[in-house]
Amino acid sequence: MTIAPEPSPTPYGRFASRPFRSDAHSRLPVFRVDSPVYERLDGAVPVSFPSVMETLAGEVRRHIEAGLPAMAEVFDVEPLELYAILAAESEWDSAPRDNERPYPPGFPYFTRSTDPPTLVLPEKLSSAIRPRTEATLPLTVWHELAHAFILRNPVVKTPAWLREFIPQTASAAVAKRERLPLEEHFGAMDRPEFTARTFRSPASAEEQMAFQNLLLRLGAAAIGEFGEGFLRRLVHALWKEEDIVGEERAEAMLAESLGDGCGAWLEGREEF
Ligand SMILES: [Zn+2]
Repeated sequence: MTIAPEPSPTPYGRFASRPFRSDAHSRLPVFRVDSPVYERLDGAVPVSFPSVMETLAGEVRRHIEAGLPAMAEVFDVEPLELYAILAAESEWDSAPRDNERPYPPGFPYFTRSTDPPTLVLPEKLSSAIRPRTEATLPLTVWHELAHAFILRNPVVKTPAWLREFIPQTASAAVAKRERLPLEEHFGAMDRPEFTARTFRSPASAEEQMAFQNLLLRLGAAAIGEFGEGFLRRLVHALWKEEDIVGEERAEAMLAESLGDGCGAWLEGREEF
């Protein structure tokens, strides 16, 4: 028999006022939303939400439930055990997170500070998240969901474009399955001066969004040209890497996963 250690007190205020014990026999979350204004939608991924946000919570749950099995298939792995919180603007700072400092408001994130891990979604997406079409919210949810899938195994450091290309392409894959109007979404995007490979941090929120959008377009185009199988090859190859992946290695990994004929194709993509 395994005796689980007492959970340590967490700094998350009302989101963690009653931590659960997590041991070999039960995998209950180590926190729970213990607040009279938070309710819970059960499902493959339970969603906690303030009662005034029931419609949005239902929408978020629908996107998660579409994304979860689709991504398990795309990455060829088991589905994830996850939890989701729709956090009220006023409570953003007390949502679970990896670091002591809260993340900027309005940007969804994924945290492994809970068991199971949690997707934290804001009441209102930041105005920097653009363009705004019917695809914006589902793409944003799937992006974080993809990060959760990728981080189920240790991942070495890579260039920013490769790190973000995988979740952007995975969200494009789900969007295609769900028949979201991606062309309309792409048509509403600004074209930045930089490309995925020449983008450099630090950058403004607008530039970072433009960088993410370049990768989304590149990923969707790659799926159209090569099929979605390359994404599975790419992520499994990344999980096997043991040393920091530099620029040259990152480009080679992408080329190997895309397969024959990708060199000329990649050179012709303005996003890359
Ligand atoms: Zn990301």
